[in-house]
Amino acid sequence: MAEQAQHIGEGFRGELHYDEPMQRHTSLKVGGPADLYAVPEDVDDLQALVRQLAEQQIPWLVIGRGYNLLVRDGGIRGAVISLERFSRIEAVGDGRIRAEAGAENLAVVRFGQQLGLGGIGFISGIPGTIGGAIRMNAGAYGEGLLQRTACITLLRDGAVCEFCIDELDYGYRRLDLQPGDLVLAATLQLVPRDPAETEDEVRKDHELRRSKHNVGHPSAGSFFKNPSGQAAWRLIDAAGLRGASEGGALVSPVHSNFLVNSGNATAADFLRLSERVKAAVLEQSGVVLEEEVRIVGEEP
Ligand SMILES: Cc1cc2nc3c(=O)[nH]c(=O)nc-3n(C[C@H](O)[C@H](O)[C@H](O)COP(=O)(O)OP(=O)(O)OC[C@H]3O[C@@H](n4cnc5c(N)ncnc54)[C@H](O)[C@@H]3O)c2cc1C
Repeated sequence: MAEQAQHIGEGFRGELHYDEPMQRHTSLKVGGPADLYAVPEDVDDLQALVRQLAEQQIPWLVIGRGYNLLVRDGGIRGAVISLERFSRIEAVGDGRIRAEAGAENLAVVRFGQQLGLGGIGFISGIPGTIGGAIRMNAGAYGEGLLQRTACITLLRDGAVCEFCIDELDYGYRRLDLQPGDLVLAATLQLVPRDPAETEDEVRKDHELRRSKHNVGHPSAGSFFKNPSGQAAWRLIDAAGLRGASEGGALVSPVHSNFLVNSGNATAADFLRLSERVKAAVLEQSGVVLEEEVRIVGEEP
């Protein structure tokens, strides 16, 4: 696979990197190398790349900024595609703005604010891109971004297509797409909002995050989803695992649903710690915890 990946890229205008360490692209700072790491210039470039990958039967994975990603230590066989150059945000009328997948969440909130539009302040402090936020239905305070989404633009089977939100199935931290779908952009439905009110919302969100999430080490935010009606951190506390560690991976003493890299952790450390947390919570509370973090890649 690594050898095949070397032949990809004829006519490609973006950046290509071979054997790219994924620890550089994930907030947990772990993960082995991707055979190929591609940063396409625009949609044409992306379509040509995906076509070449399909012809060579090379699998690929699209990422945002890696804030919700745990890459195993053996890395990724195939290609990783970053849409960081797709960052255009524009007003499209009727209180809607369209943001390309690589646009940062906070930049999108700020763009709306300048137009006197709001209602998405809850994503301002969520690190990452619109593509990642749509894929994960990222949210806070009981809201998810898909509740504010009118439609999304996908690359499906190599073609650009648009879906209205009511054609999609989604829920808490979940959007059901077909394998191989790639989010190119989202059109968000905002509401008229005084810019000062949005400013207040952003400030309060950032203050709250500073006090609750300041864990002092690299993390991916909440590692586990909250089971229905329960808080994962409370279940982890009840199981006595606040502060537990495996190698360099640690259940944060500050926020027990944050598993952090306390220094030189490997993906294997995180996976062992995650299994230990899940087993202890199951034994103590009878609840099955499910990872919110996406786990990808190969064992070494
Ligand atoms: C300190 C901290 C706090 C956090 N707080 C929150 C929070 O309050 N709420 C919350 O929901 N999350 C939170 N997170 C998690 C994370 O920020 C979100 O999940 C975010 O949406 C991930 O965005 P990303 O661009 O980094 O995506 P990635 O982590 O790069 O990708 C996440 C998933 O989306 C897929 N993906 C990415 N882009 C695309 C695309 N264009 N098309 C198709 N699939 C794609 C990837 O393959 C992967 O499966 C937090 C993380 C940290 C580190």
